[in-house]
Amino acid sequence: MSAENFTVRPYPEMWAALDMDVPRFDKARQMLGEVYGKMFLGQVNRPDRMAYFDEMIAEIFGRRVEELLAAKKEGKPVVGTFCVYIPEEIVVAAGGICVGLCGGSQGSVPDAEKVLPRNICPMVKSAYGFKAGRICPYFQAVDFVYGETTCDAKKKTWELLDRLVPTHVMEIPQMKRARDKTLWLEEVRDFKAKVEEVCHTSISANELAGAIRVINDKRRALQRLTALRAASPAPISGKDALLIEQIAFYDEPVRFAREVNLLCDELDERIGNGVGVVPASAPRVMVSGVPMALPNWKVHNLVETAGAVVVGEESCIGSRYFKDLIDESHTAMEAQLEALTDRYMQIDCSCFTPNDERVDQVLKEYRASGAQGLLHYSLQFCHTYNIEEIKIREACEKEGIPYLAIESDYSPEDVGQLQTRVEAFLEQIRG
Ligand code: SF4
Ligand code: SF4
Repeated sequence: MSAENFTVRPYPEMWAALDMDVPRFDKARQMLGEVYGKMFLGQVNRPDRMAYFDEMIAEIFGRRVEELLAAKKEGKPVVGTFCVYIPEEIVVAAGGICVGLCGGSQGSVPDAEKVLPRNICPMVKSAYGFKAGRICPYFQAVDFVYGETTCDAKKKTWELLDRLVPTHVMEIPQMKRARDKTLWLEEVRDFKAKVEEVCHTSISANELAGAIRVINDKRRALQRLTALRAASPAPISGKDALLIEQIAFYDEPVRFAREVNLLCDELDERIGNGVGVVPASAPRVMVSGVPMALPNWKVHNLVETAGAVVVGEESCIGSRYFKDLIDESHTAMEAQLEALTDRYMQIDCSCFTPNDERVDQVLKEYRASGAQGLLHYSLQFCHTYNIEEIKIREACEKEGIPYLAIESDYSPEDVGQLQTRVEAFLEQIRG
């Protein structure tokens, strides 16, 4: 596939059956294809195994949606989520599909701003706008969505989203004491009951054990990919790695893990032969902060267009999603749910207080990645990440790590100004 002839394939009949705004969505489809072609297929020396992920984008509004609809027809649950705290293992145990619906596009923000205040996080606005404008086939296909009480913008938006699609809310504790874990375990049980209600069956311990293995395997494959990015020269671009981390939220997990492992085999070979996507002298940057939902490639594109390479994402669309695994040794339902809860309680989102383990995690990942500078990325109006940025900055200053903090939204308006700041940051790294 070349940059010029890449297209995201149209499925107008299926979209119409899903009650979408087809003419408008079709324009968005064409634009996505053009942007993707230029940004991804124009890269030089990409690993051959990226072909699978290119195809996942070409079929993002088609074949994968068909798979969701086929699962629904068989009475399997299809659940939309917005946060890595929602345990997808439970949906997979019921034979269902869990899809991430976080919004990373400016295109749906105006739809949201007709209803929601303008001064809230663009990710929340983008996600809400996709449903309000009927311009996301995944949103149209799900049985229900499961939100959470992580940040204020999200939890209040769910009340309004419930008018458009059945929206359930999981209470996420804000601290990590024993009593918070008890609450969280109860919430996990409620989630399981909701999923079972949709598929009119109860999940067995065997099924849950199988699902835990499947999702652990997916996370293990992503851990392997991250470890390989520590090589110098970097065997894969940050943009491609981020794309894979984004696709992890909607692809079929067994197939996805297989393809990531095949790509990793190729990267192993490249590393053995000293092949990289950039010269070994290219500055290496780690990105930390808020999730970058599809198609938000803004920061990675800025850094890599300026001649550097991104070697890690400490983010929910990144390591926060896959750094921890669930203990697979339990065979009884209650023990499995406890083990699952333990794993999810390790996620270090800035919505928790205190959250000092995230600062330690950032430094740990930074050292492991061989990065030479840290770029902290927050979305506008995200209070928790914007305030926690102070502690990350202090830790980097203490360690002598070159540091840049960016706060941005999805609009292209600040690109010029950000470009100047990124270039100055890379000059600092180059010394
Ligand atoms: S940043 Fe926090 S609220 Fe957002 S997806 Fe991650 S865990 Fe959930
Ligand atoms: S980026 Fe911040 S404000 Fe936006 S949804 Fe996540 S936690 Fe909430």
